[in-house]
Amino acid sequence: MFRRFFYGRYGNDHLNLVIMVIALVIGVSSVFTHGVTYLIFALLQFCLLCLWFMRFLSKNHYARSNENQKFLHFWGRLREKFKGVRAFFSRLADRDHRYFKCPRCHSRLRVPRGRGNITVTCPRCRHQFDKKS
Ligand SMILES: [Zn+2]
Repeated sequence: MFRRFFYGRYGNDHLNLVIMVIALVIGVSSVFTHGVTYLIFALLQFCLLCLWFMRFLSKNHYARSNENQKFLHFWGRLREKFKGVRAFFSRLADRDHRYFKCPRCHSRLRVPRGRGNITVTCPRCRHQFDKKS
């Protein structure tokens, strides 16, 4: 009977996994809340679990995988952005080098700080230019 019930159901994907994880995190953090906040947390968790269950049992595979694709796209962009932010802070923390872009090909270059005026050769396009480091 169980087998029959689950036959043709969509099951789990990345989006469902994330929904489950968020629901669990909310569930755990709701332990530390009281009153209205607890109610909101519980409601939110309930909604997420309903959403998870509905997606899991859905027979509309096309719509579900479409949702998952959109989610993966969004996730990829989020990761890309996060990578950029991390690179920015690591450049900010780097006191030994100067960072700038090649005026011709715009690739990012790094030179040691405090060498005075130097001639830089871009490793990508071989363009040479003077820079103060
Ligand atoms: Zn270049």
